[in-house]
Amino acid sequence: MKRRQFIKNTSLSGIGVAAASPFMNYLNLPIMQKSEPVCIATWNFPNASRKAGEMLSTGALALDAVEQGVMVEEADIRNTTVGRGGAPDREGNVTLDACIMAPNGDAGAVVYLKNNTHAVSVARKVMEETPHVILAGEGADRFALEQGFEKEELLTTNSEKAYKEWLKTKEYKPIINIENHDTIGMLCIDSKGDIAGACTSSGLSYKMNGRVGDSPIIGSGLFLDNEVGGAVATGMGEAILKSVGSFLIVELMRQGKSPQEACEIAILRIVKQNPNYKDFQAAFIAINKNGEVGSYCIQKGFSYMDFRNGENKNFPSKYYI
Ligand code: ASP
Repeated sequence: MKRRQFIKNTSLSGIGVAAASPFMNYLNLPIMQKSEPVCIATWNFPNASRKAGEMLSTGALALDAVEQGVMVEEADIRNTTVGRGGAPDREGNVTLDACIMAPNGDAGAVVYLKNNTHAVSVARKVMEETPHVILAGEGADRFALEQGFEKEELLTTNSEKAYKEWLKTKEYKPIINIENHDTIGMLCIDSKGDIAGACTSSGLSYKMNGRVGDSPIIGSGLFLDNEVGGAVATGMGEAILKSVGSFLIVELMRQGKSPQEACEIAILRIVKQNPNYKDFQAAFIAINKNGEVGSYCIQKGFSYMDFRNGENKNFPSKYYI
């Protein structure tokens, strides 16, 4: 089959809706309008989205806004699954996972970071100062020190107390929307129309030592393409990893799906792939270049922040069950 014929056949069948759309340019991309500056973020963290949103309103770059926005949660010790104050693994170590993506497609991540609150900033340094994308464990901690980050103790009195309580039963059963509920994933569009994203987490409470979730994995916890849009995830990392959900959502938007349709398809994949889907939460939020937002999850109870035009709002997500 000649290449041209192949492309024609493909666009008429496999990606039918997208290909039939009149809003496609020659690169097969939906034609997007430039959005106003906007910040969206997982869960109900108004301080984080306000920080990023206000930065965007004064002309900050999306990359700076996502970093500083999620840093608000990393520093908040009341939040027990992000940054300092995060719940430890079952051996008592607090280990952080984070990633960041720039509009040009550059990415950086850290996994199993033990000595720094601001995992997202170390991830940004990995992106900007090394030839690599991910640094793990001891290497990541050493790199952070070399970059001028100070060594910190991440286990707070409260998380230590909760951990000692947990040790009494050692039951590993993350509670839907409670223990799993604090990973912050954020996507920002700046006044130039560029998109950046960040995702940061201490992962599942009382996870096995060494466990890494979806949050720092480009394509799973976060993905963006500055020509199309971006997506971020929260919830059961194992299910999100297996679906490569954020990448899937961006590719679906590229093919013409709305952010909402794309998030729904990604959650349906997870539901189909996991017979025990009723036992856990998984959620995605997405934004396209036009600033249109989508959100979908398995269980009722997930919400997301949206800051635009000076308004910082929390919206309940649609859900499957
Ligand atoms: N996705 C995170 C993880 O599995 C957890 C969460 O979002 O709460 O590490």
